[in-house]
Amino acid sequence: MGILARARKAVILVLAALLVGWPPTLPAVGQIVLEDVVARGFEVAVSITPVDLSLEMVGGDLRFLSRGTLRGTARVALEITAEQPVSRVRMELSSALTVRSVQAEGARVTFTRTGSQVLLTFDPALSPKARQTVTVEYDGQPLYLYNEFVLLHTGALYPVLVSPFGDYSANMGRVSIQVTAPAGFAAVSTGRQVSAEGNVVRWDSEVEVPWVALAGGRRHRRVERTAGGVRLQIYVIPGEERNLDKLAGYTGQAVEFFGRLLYPFPYTELKVVSLIVVGGGIGYPAMLLIDDRAFSGTMPGALNRDSWLFLLMAHEAAHSYVPSRTVPKGVGFVWLSEGFAEYLALMAVEAVMGPEAFARELQEERDDYAVIAGKPEDRSIASFTFANYGPRASRRVIYGKGSLVLHMLRFVIGDDAFRRSLAAFFQRTRGRAARVDEFRDVAEEISGAKLEWFFDQWISQVVLPDYVVASASTTRTDEGEFRTTATIRNTGTGTMPVDVAFGAGEGRVVRRVEVPGRGEATVTVTTPAAIKEVEVDPGRWLIQSNYKNDRYEIR
Ligand SMILES: [Zn+2]
Repeated sequence: MGILARARKAVILVLAALLVGWPPTLPAVGQIVLEDVVARGFEVAVSITPVDLSLEMVGGDLRFLSRGTLRGTARVALEITAEQPVSRVRMELSSALTVRSVQAEGARVTFTRTGSQVLLTFDPALSPKARQTVTVEYDGQPLYLYNEFVLLHTGALYPVLVSPFGDYSANMGRVSIQVTAPAGFAAVSTGRQVSAEGNVVRWDSEVEVPWVALAGGRRHRRVERTAGGVRLQIYVIPGEERNLDKLAGYTGQAVEFFGRLLYPFPYTELKVVSLIVVGGGIGYPAMLLIDDRAFSGTMPGALNRDSWLFLLMAHEAAHSYVPSRTVPKGVGFVWLSEGFAEYLALMAVEAVMGPEAFARELQEERDDYAVIAGKPEDRSIASFTFANYGPRASRRVIYGKGSLVLHMLRFVIGDDAFRRSLAAFFQRTRGRAARVDEFRDVAEEISGAKLEWFFDQWISQVVLPDYVVASASTTRTDEGEFRTTATIRNTGTGTMPVDVAFGAGEGRVVRRVEVPGRGEATVTVTTPAAIKEVEVDPGRWLIQSNYKNDRYEIR
């Protein structure tokens, strides 16, 4: 394991690049728009030959000296949804794989290959509403196909349709996958296992999903659990699974929470695979790939805390809802997947582990975003697609700020309307692609509030408020009560409603006031007791550049 441990960080970087730097920039080839062609189903059969991992570090770069081999056939059921005939269909398949043949039943098709692009040309063009099955045969040596671990993503496992922005929403289909692996090798994919004969295992995704992956390894052993009403299959490495019970329990509790909040968990089996190359986790439909250090209890620093481990499992489990069932597309699609998964996970922490754990993890999000807040890297949530997403700064925007934006929306429309909006949005978009605007529409409908201003500021633009109590004073009324007036100033940008608390503890009075960017508002309360202090945003609901100047003492 020495070489694995040493190279871990580099492998994670490579994986991150693979995940987010893919697909690469493509040449202009009269590309089809996102929804002219959609895939309705995949039948994938692959045979894998893993080898021992061999790698070296050269000047900080990681080189894989060994490569396993994959052979595959994918039958893709395409449907033309454009209103005009479509002659060209663009698919993505790792450039480490060679396309051996492309055939279309009852149609003439040729293909060209550029990098990871497979461009299919139909002659004659496919008519609107046409359904066309295409069979692609391919083989090669993609990463990562090792005895120590296997991790093959969409695109390195089978070809998919990818929008120019890198989203996968056009691949919403049922996936059946058959894997042939050497004896004794644990291979795991999404869905219900439908058969296992000799070295051949088949799974069925049960519902339409945008992608599936393949993971596993020679040392992995399967442990069966039932948690949260879901059958868990956990693949761990013997001797490195100290946290097995804990993580299984957390997964079940998170799934139970999402089942109550959104809708019942939509798969009969949920797989959890301990994997070395995963920094944190990756959530595929009903399949969570989890950093092996979470299982062995050896995460760096404070990350072995229970609330973080819970957040990790809950975040990856939330991905079984989004992007797996509701598939984000269009502006802000990365946030709709990752920001939502993160906040859903935070809500699960709150529900299961309580308010202190929730406050702790929420503060981590604030701290994470604070590193770049107000700096050039602090770009709008809407500006991120898979083409530019991946660097640490972009993750601070999408996960950190992204989850805090949902927290603010909960403040703006109220807890009940927020929960009902989440449920309605995910129920209505279940099994299809959806845009951020659809979530806004649902939240507006359920809360009865206009929210364009909110989404404009927090998704399309970059604003950064800082609320301070500029002044506060108290006078005695004729009736012997106390009238306190506070001036709340936003020294930053963005217009938000903000809570102002007069006094402390049980007897405090809270008023909500709207404070414009670079502006101020006054609020007055009359109380039977004297007010000694005023605090703006006492619940820390809002994103601010500085939380240390929120209190004011009246002398
Ligand atoms: Zn995620």
